[in-house]
Amino acid sequence: MRTIQHWINGAFTPAGATRTAPVWNPATGEQRAEVVMAGRSEVDAAVTAAAEAFESWGDSSLTLRSRVMFRLRELLVEHEDELARLVCAEHGKVVEDARGEIVRGREIVEFACGITSALKGDYSDQISGDIDSFSYRQPLGVVAGITPFNFPVMVPLWMHPIAIACGNTFVLKPSERDPSASTFVAQLYADAGLPDGVFNVVHGDRDAVDGLLDSDGVEAVSFVGSTPVARYVHERATATGKRVQALGGAKNHAVVLPDADLDFAATQLTAAAYGSAGQRCMAVSAAVAVGEAGDALVSTLESRARAIRVGPGHDPATEMGPLITAQARDRVASYVSSGAEQGADVVVDGRGVTVEGHEGGFFVGPSLIDRVEPGMEVYDDEVFGPLLSVVRSRDVDEAIALINANPYGNGTAVFTGDGEAARRFHRGVRVGMVGVNVPIPVPTAHYSFGGWKDSLFGEKHIHGPEGVDFYTRAKVVTSRWPRVNRPSDSELNFPTAQ
Ligand code: NAD
Repeated sequence: MRTIQHWINGAFTPAGATRTAPVWNPATGEQRAEVVMAGRSEVDAAVTAAAEAFESWGDSSLTLRSRVMFRLRELLVEHEDELARLVCAEHGKVVEDARGEIVRGREIVEFACGITSALKGDYSDQISGDIDSFSYRQPLGVVAGITPFNFPVMVPLWMHPIAIACGNTFVLKPSERDPSASTFVAQLYADAGLPDGVFNVVHGDRDAVDGLLDSDGVEAVSFVGSTPVARYVHERATATGKRVQALGGAKNHAVVLPDADLDFAATQLTAAAYGSAGQRCMAVSAAVAVGEAGDALVSTLESRARAIRVGPGHDPATEMGPLITAQARDRVASYVSSGAEQGADVVVDGRGVTVEGHEGGFFVGPSLIDRVEPGMEVYDDEVFGPLLSVVRSRDVDEAIALINANPYGNGTAVFTGDGEAARRFHRGVRVGMVGVNVPIPVPTAHYSFGGWKDSLFGEKHIHGPEGVDFYTRAKVVTSRWPRVNRPSDSELNFPTAQ
C-alpha cells in the first residue's frame, strides 16, 4: 500500500506515522493508498520550516518571485496530463474536467507572474513642505491554506501562488480524501526553483487544522470547504488574532425566464448541475423556472439528464464520474428519497445506478426533482451531488426574493433575453457571483472569487486583487530629507501640512 507523506522543508517526511487514513479510488471502491495524518508536532515542524524560509523569501526581489511563478506555470502545462489523471484517480472526476480545473488554477499562477504590477505602491511628491509620502505593501509571514476535496488542484492554487508571490511562506493542509495533487504541485515548485520551506504540505483532519488555527507562528488562514467548518475556522482563528477568509458551502439557483432560449438554458443547466457529479461549490442545484417556462424546461432537462453517460473518469466516453465516497453517494440518494417523501416529483431517479465492471464504485446517476419548495430537506440543505431541484416561481421578483431568503450566497445565474430583467436580477440578488446567461460564473484570475452570507466568513474574497490585499499589509511612509543648515520648524502642536 502506497503511503502519501507530508512535504516539509523541501522533502517528504520519513515513514513512521502513527495515524493514517484511506484514500479511495471512487470508480472502483477500492483503497488505492493511505495518507499520513498530522498531529501538532508535524504541523509545528511545517510552520517552523516556513518561518525560517520567510527570513529570506520575504526579502526576495519581486523579479525573482515572478520568475519562479513563470517556471511553475510552464511545469503545470508540461505535467497537465499526469496531474489530471492523478486527480481523476483519487477524486473520480473525468480527466477532461480535471484538466479544466488545472487550467483555471494555472490562470492564478499567470496572475501571480505579474506580481510586480499588482504590488505597485503609491507615491505623493511634496505632500507637505519638503515632505513626500509613499505607500507599499509587505508580506504577512507564514500563512496557511485549508482546502476541500472537490478541486484538489484549483482551490489550493487560488491561495498559494498569490501568497508566495507576495513574499509569504505557506503551509497547505489539503483534503485528506485526495491529497496527492498537493504533494505533486509541491515537487513542481521545487523544480521551479522555489527555496525549501516556502511551500509545505501537511495532511490530516481536524487535529492538523486545529494545529494551524492555534499556532502562534501562523499569521493568516485561507479556508475553503463546507459552511459549518468555515464558520468554525473563522471563529477559532480570529480568536487567536489571525486574518481569516473562510469560504463555505452553497445553494446556487439558476433562474430561467419564459423569454429565455430554453434549449440553450437546459444545456447550460445540465452541465452546471451534473458536471463533476455536482461536486462543485458553483454547481447549479436549484433551477427556478419562471411562469410558463416550467413544463418545457423540465421536459428538456429530463431528456438531457437521461442521456448523460456515467462511468469511470478515465474512460473518454464518460461524461459524469462517481461521488468521492460511499457515504457521499448514500447521502445524495437519501435526498432523492426525502424529496419524494416530502411531496416533490422525482422525474429522473439516479439511485441504484451501477456501472458495468465498476460495481463497487461510488456511483449515483443524474437525478431531477420537480416542484421542490423551501422547507423540503432537498431544498434547504447543500446536497453536493448530481441532483437538480426545480422550483416553480411566478416572476423574476419572486425568484429574486427566493434567492435572497436562502442563507447561502455563493453563485447564481439568470437566463433571459431581456436586458432589463437581467439587470434587475444582478442588482437585486444578495449573492457574490452572478451569471447572465452564464451558469457557472467563476470569476477569472483578475477578479476575485467569493460569496456572500453563509458562503464566506471574513472580508476579503479569494485570489486576484483581493487576494493580494489579504496576503499583505499596507505601510505608509512620510519622508523628509531637509537641506543641511535649514532651520527646524518643529513645534509641539500636531503637525499639519505646510
Ligand atoms: P469539508 O468542510 O468537509 O472539508 C474542508 C477542509 O476542512 C478539509 O481540508 C478537511 O480536512 C477539513 N475539515 C473537515 N472537517 C473538519 C472539522 N470538523 N474541523 C476542522 N477541519 C475540518 O468540505 P469538503 O467536503 O472537503 O468539500 C465540500 C464543501 O466545500 C462543500 O460544502 C462545498 O460547497 C465547499 N466548497 C466551497 C467553495 C467556495 O469557494 N465557497 C469551493 C469548493 C468547495
